Amino acid sequence: MSEEQSQKNVAMVVMAHPDDAEFSSAGTVAGWVRQGWEVYYVIVADGAAGGPDDATEVGPEQRKLWAEIRKEEQLAAAKVLGVKEVIFLNYPDGQVEPSMALRRDLVRCLRRYKPLRVICQSPERAWVPQMFLGRYHPDHLAAGVATLAAIYPASQNPWDFPELLQEGLLPHKVLEVYISGSPNPNFPVDITETVDLKIEALRAHTTQTGPDFEGMETRIRSMLAQTGEKYKLGAAEIFHRVENGGLPAPKPDK
Ligand SMILES: [Zn+2]
Repeated sequence: MSEEQSQKNVAMVVMAHPDDAEFSSAGTVAGWVRQGWEVYYVIVADGAAGGPDDATEVGPEQRKLWAEIRKEEQLAAAKVLGVKEVIFLNYPDGQVEPSMALRRDLVRCLRRYKPLRVICQSPERAWVPQMFLGRYHPDHLAAGVATLAAIYPASQNPWDFPELLQEGLLPHKVLEVYISGSPNPNFPVDITETVDLKIEALRAHTTQTGPDFEGMETRIRSMLAQTGEKYKLGAAEIFHRVENGGLPAPKPDK
């Protein structure tokens, strides 16, 4: 791949579970796709622990079935948003750790697809009064640690994971990181134009959004509006945006 090709507008969203990307950043993703960005999803866990809360029989067969269902839901949601490809890393759901194996797999994705922007989950909980514990599932925290470690320094450093050089995967530097769920968000993205697509993408996760989708839709629209209001925007998703290499401080996206 030539240098010119490698600098095209590519973004990557790395999330622990099928559905995390839709809850955190689907409006932003849909907006970037409309602006001509190629967006790739990397889903770390297989989704096998996402079956009903009242399950009394949970074995390998059931887990396998749920993993299949949730991958189908993720693919359907990605299609709504115009995501180019979904890469499933298939780590066991509920057991994700920020291991060297995961870091290597993520570096492989970064070097292969060469995103300039990455959206990932926060490695830290925000201890705000309205903190929702489910937002900080341990898989989310682990995926956040692993992704940030993969971005810096491993992806851009030829001395990290030299075996990847043998696979022809040369160092790649990510320029911007958008962290969802961080304790100190600094970067709202106005998603007024794409909020309906976000809702449609969430609707694809039938098994996770429950029988009362309308109720959930109302709550989500209200939360997005509240976030936007703080910044005098319409509906908004919020991130902590950091630039890799000391570039200027973030400016809110209009
Ligand atoms: Zn999740």
